[in-house]
Amino acid sequence: MSIENAVHFNSLGLATPLLQAITESGYTTPTPIQAQAIPLALQGLDLMAGAQTGTGKTAAFALPLLQKLLPLASTSTSPAKHPVRALVLTPTRELAIQVENSIKAYAKNTALRSLVVFGGIDIKTQTPHLKSGVEVLVATPGRLLDHIEQKTLSLNQVQILVLDEADRMLDMGFMPDLKRILALLPKQRQNMMFSATFSNEIKKLADDFLTNPTLVEVARSNATAENVTQKVYLLEQGKKQTFLTQLLKNEAANQVIIFTKTKLTASKLSRTLQKEGIAADAIHGDKSQQERLAALDAFKQGKVTALVATDVAARGLDISDLPMVINYEIPSAPEDYVHRIGRTGRAGASGTAISLVCEDEEKYLAEIEKLIKKSIPREAAKIEHSSNARSKSKNQTESGKHVHSLEHSRLSHNSKQNKGSNANNDPWFDKPYEPAEASIKSETRKSAVASKKPLAALLGGLKRH
Ligand code: AMP
Repeated sequence: MSIENAVHFNSLGLATPLLQAITESGYTTPTPIQAQAIPLALQGLDLMAGAQTGTGKTAAFALPLLQKLLPLASTSTSPAKHPVRALVLTPTRELAIQVENSIKAYAKNTALRSLVVFGGIDIKTQTPHLKSGVEVLVATPGRLLDHIEQKTLSLNQVQILVLDEADRMLDMGFMPDLKRILALLPKQRQNMMFSATFSNEIKKLADDFLTNPTLVEVARSNATAENVTQKVYLLEQGKKQTFLTQLLKNEAANQVIIFTKTKLTASKLSRTLQKEGIAADAIHGDKSQQERLAALDAFKQGKVTALVATDVAARGLDISDLPMVINYEIPSAPEDYVHRIGRTGRAGASGTAISLVCEDEEKYLAEIEKLIKKSIPREAAKIEHSSNARSKSKNQTESGKHVHSLEHSRLSHNSKQNKGSNANNDPWFDKPYEPAEASIKSETRKSAVASKKPLAALLGGLKRH
């Protein structure tokens, strides 16, 4: 993790139990977002922070949040002594779990309690924990509203609200849920909003729920950092599966996330890879929570080497030192590319991000390059046919291997669009994983990324730190 200033945790004004927990977590120096956000949040200011997963943003809001609640910490077993005082909303279950794990670690030397609630598992299993009282609640919006409807939860003592990955919450259509939740909170409270990207919708959300916010920005994403080698292979959609298998075998990739656009492609691809002898599994929204956690666990332990994922499922996964990310299909929203490849090259480690791009996807590639202000080197995909390959080639050489360049079979740039390039011509394959809102208008995006003062302008003259 790159450090901008040589700030120390003990100069940020944090209490001893929190400093101890930080040391026990192995952190020595605050990350830039922590160095900037913690002192401001400790003053009780509303924050609008531009930071994404991988920047250390969780501790940036969690540490001041815990410190503010410390005077209210109680060792009493009475639930009345443990009302929900801080609410953290996240777009996905996996992110909610990660955030709560971090909060638990930072709060380990205090009497403050935390809990995570998310959908996809039986609500009844969460109710007793909620009823016994918890100061910090991390939740996905839908399940939080379920609990409110079931009267297992009251939010009338919430003093601090955090919206984590606010851009993704809006992309996923959570705006109505967020409005309902905001209406249930006390008006007097501190708000912190974290977002990796900024759109008009984010500006509107900030207007709606932040009071005179202070802007905190850190270097955008580590996704385009020098330590991530980005590469594009140009090939036909129909050749992707074979090329991917070959790539995984040749690179001896022992931990790689492969992104697809749809759940169906993720499932099918993972099954195909398994048949090819690759330890693969899929993680997407149609899997039960238990299945998703089991897949993630197996991946982290190295039992699964190739995890095929949709954007929503992979969002926020904290898998550090991931050596490789492969885009089996590149995303239509360029911000998703940044999020995807942000899985690798984290904390200063080097990583490789490979994208398999067919002709129909080149328009998305152009959008991505515009966003990251960088042209990604292209290579022609070469498929090796081994002697025991299922489909033997006429041009097979004596060595039993032959290399067939896909370049010549590739349609020219200006040729007619290859309408049926997706497998099986199944409409499922063209279905985006999320509502159309995901695509942020290029003007807004341009200003948010290119300008040094994007948010102040977008948010209508914020105080700058
Ligand atoms: P986050 O952006 O909050 O998801 O954090 C990304 C990763 O960085 C997590 O694995 C954190 O445990 C780790 N991390 C957070 N703060 C620090 C720090 N100050 N020093 C080292 N690692 C950190």
